[in-house]
Amino acid sequence: MTSPTRPEIPRMGISRFEKPGIADPVAGPPESVLAEPVAAEALPIELVPAESSPTEPVAAEPDAGAPVRAEPALAEAAPVEPVPAEPVLGEPVLAEPALAEPVPAAIAEAERVSARVPGAPTAESTLSPRVRRNRIIAGASLALVVVVLLGVVVGNLLDAGHGAEAKPTVAAHPAGEFNRAAFSLDDPASPWVIVNKQRPIVPVDFTPPDLVEVKVAHTWKPLLRQEAAVAVETMFAAATSEAGLSLESNSAYRSYASQVEVYTEEVTSKGRTSADQSTARPGTSEHQTGLTIDIGAESGICRLNVCFADSAEGHWLAENAWRFGFLLRYPADKVSVTGYEFEPWHFRYIGTDLAAELHSTGVSTLEEFFGLPAAPTY
Ligand SMILES: [Zn+2]
Repeated sequence: MTSPTRPEIPRMGISRFEKPGIADPVAGPPESVLAEPVAAEALPIELVPAESSPTEPVAAEPDAGAPVRAEPALAEAAPVEPVPAEPVLGEPVLAEPALAEPVPAAIAEAERVSARVPGAPTAESTLSPRVRRNRIIAGASLALVVVVLLGVVVGNLLDAGHGAEAKPTVAAHPAGEFNRAAFSLDDPASPWVIVNKQRPIVPVDFTPPDLVEVKVAHTWKPLLRQEAAVAVETMFAAATSEAGLSLESNSAYRSYASQVEVYTEEVTSKGRTSADQSTARPGTSEHQTGLTIDIGAESGICRLNVCFADSAEGHWLAENAWRFGFLLRYPADKVSVTGYEFEPWHFRYIGTDLAAELHSTGVSTLEEFFGLPAAPTY
């Protein structure tokens, strides 16, 4: 148990994940539980276009309005031609200097005509044909400019809209992101419970609700929670069928009371400091969760020894355990995180979804994956 640290086990080379035939777990199948969070996460993604759309006009306004405001003829012509009531449309109209002249000229002419004919009701009614023609031309020109500029403004708005859609958003979750909140990390009955030297089991005398015997070769009759037990049996069978290897269980569920015995023995034989490097104090052992098993070769080679990592069985487990929902919990290069020496035989069942996620992301400890503090000591 106090063997020197060894180099990290090479990552797994399995190209395709095969889900083992795991029976319905008491804790609930990960698939059904995960299905809801995934669907919920999809909602914000659909909302992205809706959220960005209100910003489109805002972003577009400066661009569309800027050139118009730069035109000097604005103030002068505005009172002359009240027809374009819309602010956006009025400004572009005034941007055309050539059009501003005929209108005041026509008005002035009308006023002169009106002045020559006392009693005329309005200047409008007394306009000469030339003035009316000029005014019609001016009006038509104004309308044409309004239409053209309106098209420009609308085009700018649409362009700005496209630009806004192309921008990445920070609020939305990428589709299919792994839901790290699917299960509790604190509840000892949770498949994701994280137990280490800083996270004792609560309550300290917790007993798993669905312990069953694991029907595999063993040196000590193994009990595990139902889902983990089935996964072990499936994995052991696969080791045989795929690689011709025979595995055995060396230790699985250990009650609080049995952990007291194991730990006391360790302390008696090699002292407390050394015992703490290899054996959990009662109440902080993963074995008490009913989700952890120490696995060896049925031949007994390197049993519970670090040299097991170099055996065919150790290699196979290191590369394939994740496919069956297991994690090599105490890797060689994570002693400062887990608080335990490299244990190539100690596997923790975490379910196939989380195990596959850890495998694909290359994160090798639960502490790191869930952003929990390292637990090198008590
Ligand atoms: Zn163990």
